[in-house]
Amino acid sequence: MVYKISDDCINCGACDSSCPVEAISEADGKRVIDASSCISCGACADTCPVSAISED
Ligand code: SF4
Ligand code: SF4
Repeated sequence: MVYKISDDCINCGACDSSCPVEAISEADGKRVIDASSCISCGACADTCPVSAISED
């Protein structure tokens, strides 16, 4: 189970620095999570102001 960013993402960037393995990057005006790097810690989900990040 990894975390995913939904279309609700407003590309604010708040989640970037929360990720301990730098699995979050920008693509096409939104943030995306690299599923092969994500360790499912949940830290990014706690930082998102629009609750766009959840377990897949
Ligand atoms: S769940 Fe943890 S490891 Fe996965 S993208 Fe979010 S902060 Fe990074
Ligand atoms: S914190 Fe939420 S809204 Fe901001 S870039 Fe990350 S996923 Fe998108």
